[in-house]
Amino acid sequence: PIRVRFAPSPTGPLHIGGVRTALFNYLFAKKNGGTFYLRIEDTDQNRFVPGAEAYIMEALEWLGIAPDETIGKNEKFGPYRQSERKHLYKDYADRLINSGWAYYAFDTPEALDAFRKSEEEQGKTFIYNHTNREKLDTSLVLSNDKTAARIANGEHYVIRFKTPVNETLHLHDIIRGDVKFETSLLDDKVLFKSDGMPTYHLANIVDDHLMETSHVIRGEEWLPSMPLHVLLYRAFDWKAPEFAHLPLILKPVGNGKLSKRDGDKLGFPVFPLEWKTAEGIATGYRENGFFPEAVVNFLALLGWNDGTEQELFTLAELVDKFDLNRVHKAGAKFDPDKNKWFNHQYLIKADNGLLAKAFTPILAKKGLTTEEETIIKIVSLIKERAHFVSEFWEMSNFFFQAPTAYDEKATKNWKPETPALMTQLNTVLATITDFSSMNIETVVKEWMTANDIGMGKVMQPFRLSLVGALKGPHLFDIVEVIGKEETISRIEKAIS
Ligand code: GLU
Repeated sequence: PIRVRFAPSPTGPLHIGGVRTALFNYLFAKKNGGTFYLRIEDTDQNRFVPGAEAYIMEALEWLGIAPDETIGKNEKFGPYRQSERKHLYKDYADRLINSGWAYYAFDTPEALDAFRKSEEEQGKTFIYNHTNREKLDTSLVLSNDKTAARIANGEHYVIRFKTPVNETLHLHDIIRGDVKFETSLLDDKVLFKSDGMPTYHLANIVDDHLMETSHVIRGEEWLPSMPLHVLLYRAFDWKAPEFAHLPLILKPVGNGKLSKRDGDKLGFPVFPLEWKTAEGIATGYRENGFFPEAVVNFLALLGWNDGTEQELFTLAELVDKFDLNRVHKAGAKFDPDKNKWFNHQYLIKADNGLLAKAFTPILAKKGLTTEEETIIKIVSLIKERAHFVSEFWEMSNFFFQAPTAYDEKATKNWKPETPALMTQLNTVLATITDFSSMNIETVVKEWMTANDIGMGKVMQPFRLSLVGALKGPHLFDIVEVIGKEETISRIEKAIS
């Protein structure tokens, strides 16, 4: 069965790159009728940040890609928090010691530093591996009794992986194809520490095995760990999962990986949800008015497409079309403007009733208690040109209140004969009983034609009187919404 996981370390808010990893795991699981689970990798207590775990869960919920199994949900393979699995790992580290795949190392930081310096003096770069593991303070050069005695004495130690020497590993990555690694260039990574905690590498492999992970789908930054991980599976005599390393997400301008600083510089969020700390607030897509569907959509296209020009996908369509074999190797450029375009696409498709609901609290803050039906109508008239609900007020305030000033640049259309024309217009408007946009337009245009009055002479001052500027949706739609009385009164005010 297909089982994939998202395995973040709770070291802070989830970066948008992490969200993309979660999404691709989710899509792959759903596409293949598999299971998507969330495991919290919190073995590094120094980097633990309170609140980060809850943040990760909330972000996935908000995006609609919540895991099938995790802490508190279908805990078939639980616990899903590595700190609660602490008791498990020691035994696996011991197994590797017993089978000769790992060894104890007692080097103090000072001793390691001194060794590194002396190597560097001889022009060598120090790697903790086969070239010097026997020159260091390890169980490889101690008798079993000596080793046991030092451990019993409470001496600090680490358990290191004994990387095989001179082997070329031919590995397969679903996205990258065949990848080669030379084991002699790898270092003997620490797997376990005498404080009883495993490192990321050991805990990750043990849990991926115990939780029956079939595919490891994660960011490219983990590709260098792949040889060690595959060797660990070999050392345990376990079947390794398949691997897929997702391409980097690149800065919108310049080269390199997208970072939080790019967001600060260019004014766009790099986090799904807002994150508040004593140092300040990092803004989130949710708080910036993005629809979760839009975020999911643009993230899905960071490194993947379905082979056509299609850009708009619902989550269900993504599940249907997703294919790991179509994920690119090359980094994917992050495009904040395009992200806004996606939000616009979702906004124009969104139900007007829901948009009105989102707009209502903004209006309430201005002391406006407009009828829902009117708000829905207004939303339908303005949304074509909006990216976010937060822009609605700026785009529609004239529906709710008469202009208090008139755009200077537009007053050049205000001619000496304008007040007289506007007075006539008001007389015409006063006679209209069917005050619908279409009918008002017909009547006003008939009046203009019958009296040989040019369009521009009326329409621009008319709009200026109602809106205060030459902007906004179709004029007669505005007239219908604000109503006969208010229209006439705004015209009177403008000519007075
Ligand atoms: N805990 C690792 C992280 O923070 C997991 C990497 C992996 O998926 O193996 O991304």
